[in-house]
Amino acid sequence: MPELPEVEITARLLDRALAGTRVEYARAPGINALKTFDPPLSALEGQSIAAVHRRGKHLVVDIDVDRRDGDRDEAGCVSLALLIHLMSAGRLQLYDKPAGPRDRSSRLLVGLEDGRELRLREFGSKQAAWVKLLRSDELERDDSLKTLGPEAWPDPGDPARLKDLLAAPRPLHTLLRDQHVVAGIGRSWVDEILWQARLSPYKRGSDLDEDEARRLRDAIVETLAGAIAHYEQAIQLPLPDKLPLPLQVHRHQGEPCPRCGATLEAVHFEDYVIAYCPTCQTDGRVLKDRRLSRLLR
Ligand SMILES: [Zn+2]
Repeated sequence: MPELPEVEITARLLDRALAGTRVEYARAPGINALKTFDPPLSALEGQSIAAVHRRGKHLVVDIDVDRRDGDRDEAGCVSLALLIHLMSAGRLQLYDKPAGPRDRSSRLLVGLEDGRELRLREFGSKQAAWVKLLRSDELERDDSLKTLGPEAWPDPGDPARLKDLLAAPRPLHTLLRDQHVVAGIGRSWVDEILWQARLSPYKRGSDLDEDEARRLRDAIVETLAGAIAHYEQAIQLPLPDKLPLPLQVHRHQGEPCPRCGATLEAVHFEDYVIAYCPTCQTDGRVLKDRRLSRLLR
């Protein structure tokens, strides 16, 4: 569920709180979320957190490695990076004290010299969140980052570039969530963006005209910027388990459209729901709800 705005505010708050702090220990308890073994997590001990930032829906914690003898390794690399993907139910949170022995939700623990602890926690039964510890020069070459499309925010490119990126005979709802096409958008924010742009979730990317591409580009940038601005006001450390997502359309099916007052409709899939306004987005057509049609068959 965390998408670009939620990961961005997480990165900003943690960056402000952690930059310059020294790491005392790092552990990956329980089922192994750690996908790399070289360098080992112990390489973080005694080193300082330089920054926390976002790439697509990933978090990156940059670590400065202190090499007092001036020695550099073969790659000439003197820093490390924790690359973290929260997947659908992960959170990266900072606590004043270490987790107790009853803690079951933590996948990564980074203890800091001032007694605080950074934890990658995961809620629910699925264990999907992951961590990689990489040398910083390996970071951009890592498969999960090198295949990302341009960042959806602050600038996915001009409307002509967006039109090129989306020029495939696939529905916009699918294309916009494809991280190889554009990075950062998922199931919640795609509904808000398409509603803002007054475009059908099922319109094919290859059918976008120039005016529609411009509307879509503006909707992507403005919707995500608005969400980030909202979080800057609404959220502080410690990061809550549940962020108050400022959604107007997603999960609001059955309620009036905030723009035209028509009833918002939804298409249900096995593990997600598309919400939209028939009046604003589909020329009044109500899209077939696959769940209902399956039940009626
Ligand atoms: Zn409407």
